[in-house]
Amino acid sequence: MRALYPGSFDPLTLGHLDLIERSARLFDGVIVAVLQNPSKSPAFSLDQRLQQIRQATAHLAGPQLATIEVGSFDGLSVDYARQCGAEVILRGLRAMSDFEFELQIAHTNKSLAPHVETLFLATAVHHSFLSSSVVKEVARFGGDVRHMVPAGVADDLSRLFNRNSP
Ligand code: ADP
Repeated sequence: MRALYPGSFDPLTLGHLDLIERSARLFDGVIVAVLQNPSKSPAFSLDQRLQQIRQATAHLAGPQLATIEVGSFDGLSVDYARQCGAEVILRGLRAMSDFEFELQIAHTNKSLAPHVETLFLATAVHHSFLSSSVVKEVARFGGDVRHMVPAGVADDLSRLFNRNSP
């Protein structure tokens, strides 16, 4: 069975990566796909985000692990899931605050594509405080984010927020 893990990933955090690693043990194929949302102006370009995901998931290979594919789309997740042959849309839950929104999306998707199931994985407890926006906020003010994001993303964040420094 194949699963689609859609998100903004702006940028990828260790919380996202943990979900990808765990899902790689559950499915035959996992497609991590960056949603290009026209109503959001991302901090990182699509190419940067794809590169961050490719780099951070490169170690995920082996007989017990699903192949990780990386892609992008700009329409409905259910349409992209069908296009990729994914029967499952994977989402992560951190806290009750995620639940209401995620449930609404899951019900909407079910009404659009009854054969596509949404599956939620609970975040690892030590990553439950992590979000892309918190990571950007910390990095913007010079805080250390190396325990929150993959190494390549930490480098990208310091380049992004120190771009005017000598
Ligand atoms: P969105 O797709 O809503 O723009 P993100 O790209 O940040 O948000 O997240 C994609 C998915 O990953 C969402 O289901 C979100 O709940 C989940 N997620 C985000 N951060 C974490 C984390 N620290 N642990 C587990 N899941 C997470």
